[in-house]
Amino acid sequence: MSVRALRLVLGDQLSFDLPSLADLDPARDRVLLAEVAEEAGHVPHHPQKIAFLFSAMRHFAEALRQRGVTVDYVTLDDPANSGSLAGELARCAARHRPAEIYVTEAGDWRVEQALKASGLPLVWHADSRFLCSRAEFARWAQGKKQLRMEFFYREMRRKSGLLLHPDGSPEGGAWNFDADNRKRLPKGLRGPLPAQFAPDAITAEVLALVAARFAHHYGRLDGFDYPVTHAEAEQLWAHFLDFGLAAFGDYQDAMAAGEPYLFHARISAALNVGLLDLRRLCADVEAAYRQGRVALNAAEGFIRQLIGWREYVRGIYWLQMPDYAQRNAFANTRDLPAFYWTGDTRMNCLRQAIGQTLDYAYAHHIQRLMVTGNFALLAGVEPRQLCDWYLAVYMDAFDWVELPNVLGMVLHADGGYLGSKPYCASGQYLKRMSDYCAGCVYKVEDSTGENACPFNALYWHFLMRHREPLQGNPRMAMVYKNLARMEEGKRQALWARGEQLLARLDAGEAL
Ligand code: FAD
Ligand code: SF4
Repeated sequence: MSVRALRLVLGDQLSFDLPSLADLDPARDRVLLAEVAEEAGHVPHHPQKIAFLFSAMRHFAEALRQRGVTVDYVTLDDPANSGSLAGELARCAARHRPAEIYVTEAGDWRVEQALKASGLPLVWHADSRFLCSRAEFARWAQGKKQLRMEFFYREMRRKSGLLLHPDGSPEGGAWNFDADNRKRLPKGLRGPLPAQFAPDAITAEVLALVAARFAHHYGRLDGFDYPVTHAEAEQLWAHFLDFGLAAFGDYQDAMAAGEPYLFHARISAALNVGLLDLRRLCADVEAAYRQGRVALNAAEGFIRQLIGWREYVRGIYWLQMPDYAQRNAFANTRDLPAFYWTGDTRMNCLRQAIGQTLDYAYAHHIQRLMVTGNFALLAGVEPRQLCDWYLAVYMDAFDWVELPNVLGMVLHADGGYLGSKPYCASGQYLKRMSDYCAGCVYKVEDSTGENACPFNALYWHFLMRHREPLQGNPRMAMVYKNLARMEEGKRQALWARGEQLLARLDAGEAL
């Protein structure tokens, strides 16, 4: 019988309710999933990330087959594999000559362009797994010179009805309880043990493939314990609801040595590929609050990340691409320090954040923003190199979510379109929010001198270097006032120490 519809499922589209799978007729339709070298190798992805994606795809294909669906699955080591998604779609279409080819809009601009350029007659579907469509975001942003997440977030609260009173006012009398979510971790408090998932036969086969093909990529492959099916992802989520969410709000910004996850959910990769459903997660969090199991600052804080930040960065990505990827407001040209790939640095905060990234393909938000991100911002790293690093090393990294977070939030390279000010900070911030400094060879209280914390001088050097575009920003007024009040001799010493540190980075030293 001829094939009615060929339905493409990309590696981050593993949802049974994917729009391009709607009304699937198992008797007449086919589904295509393909592991391709182009996607696995366009940046040197962490081996665990490749294993996660391939294993989750293979499990999803199996789950579809168990539902009676005919699946064409192309493995990476298939000798006929063309190496690209467009190539595999073309091969599959030539094999089955379907009347129609259904595709859900891609997460990444690059992938969508490649599919469009294939010349195949594709029927596109909007990705309904997000709360805000691309068109809706464009309408909201229209006419605004600068966007602000907070106002977008309020729209999403109204739209979803989450944490609202019947009259439409926000639960607790405020939209945002972020000020309650910056507590330092009390000494001795540790996060719950992470939920772990032992590799099954499918995952074991994928791990062997990845070990053979991607051994040259940075990052550890052994110890892979990530959920790869919907059922396992649900267990990970239940574990977070039981053991993480209550403390998530209070310690959202805290960092501790040897604690890669603390009270974070660790769900981003599963959510981004479709193993978890955004609306369900939000409903569960609201229910936990309404049943008195978690405080409002925890529930609101978590929901804000999901329907605020996550949807906001996606909206900006699709509104601004492809130009967004080229933005470099500070004209940064410095190479990414080599220690980002190895963790080989004496700065304990960076060693911890990069070390756990290499071990688990994971760091939580504040580590990404205020440790590795902050250092790159202060050091003036070239945006493309930093974006490629983040895209490569994190299990949850896809261009639509990584790029705005790194280029916009971390580097302020979009000139303040996404965020109102750069998240620059000295070592004092890291001392306040972590226990890293206690175990560091550098002295966080010192700004100049050989053993002074590099973040301190680099912070002031950054502010002096970019005085022109930043000092008129009302949110930077206080720091520039402090800089103006500083003795000239101290300013010069900070500049000289900053210059020395940057020169050492340029010479390839690890610091
Ligand atoms: P939790 O701290 O438990 O947060 C819950 C969920 O909120 C996350 O799972 C995630 O889905 C969502 N979320 C929170 N903040 C953001 C945000 N800023 N943007 C989008 N979603 C958010 N997240 C990614 O999914 N992929 C990325 O490539 C990515 N790159 C980032 C790069 C930088 C420089 C920064 C500062 C943040 C980045 N984030 C990214 C956001 C965030 O760091 C991760 O989503 C989070 O650390 C994932 O861990 P978790 O599931 O334990 O999150
Ligand atoms: Fe990081 Fe400076 Fe603290 Fe060392 S002293 S851990 S470099 S902030």
